[in-house]
Amino acid sequence: MERSFVMIKPDGVSRGLVGEIIGRLEKRGLKLLAARLEKLTPERVNSQYEEHLNKPFFPSLRNYIMSGPCFLMVWEGRGAVGIIRTIVGKTNPVDAAPGTIRGDYALDLGRNVVHSSDSPESGNKEILIHFKETELTSYPRCSDPWLYE
Ligand code: UDP
Ligand code: MG
Repeated sequence: MERSFVMIKPDGVSRGLVGEIIGRLEKRGLKLLAARLEKLTPERVNSQYEEHLNKPFFPSLRNYIMSGPCFLMVWEGRGAVGIIRTIVGKTNPVDAAPGTIRGDYALDLGRNVVHSSDSPESGNKEILIHFKETELTSYPRCSDPWLYE
């Protein structure tokens, strides 16, 4: 099983898209392990976006991410990272296909509603930036036998 860190950014929270985004992942069959609504500290934004620290867009990205609370989640499933990236859509909403979250709800690269991990390794790293191991729940679902052969 693979885990992905998914974060609804302040625009998504403020626009009332939390339920819609959770619903898409939930209905697909992915399993929610942890969730929290929280305004990120500058240190956590730096760790989350470590690979982009020296990019010219980083100051505006940090202002955006810190402009309000984010909704942080951990999702699990077979191939969860790639499946969620497909559900989320291309980074620039201009290129994101209709039917994806960014393709349905976003217009601008700097306001693209949602983050999701780009590999299982970054998923595990990002989860540990935001959650304690003890916050990751483990529970059976009645749907489990119907989701995988
Ligand atoms: N971003 C931006 N300008 C850029 C590239 C990225 O504002 O030129 C922001 C955008 O919010 C994006 C985030 O930085 O989601 C992280 O960029 P990345 O390339 O990792 O895209 P993602 O993994 O979110 O699809
Ligand atoms: Mg990324």
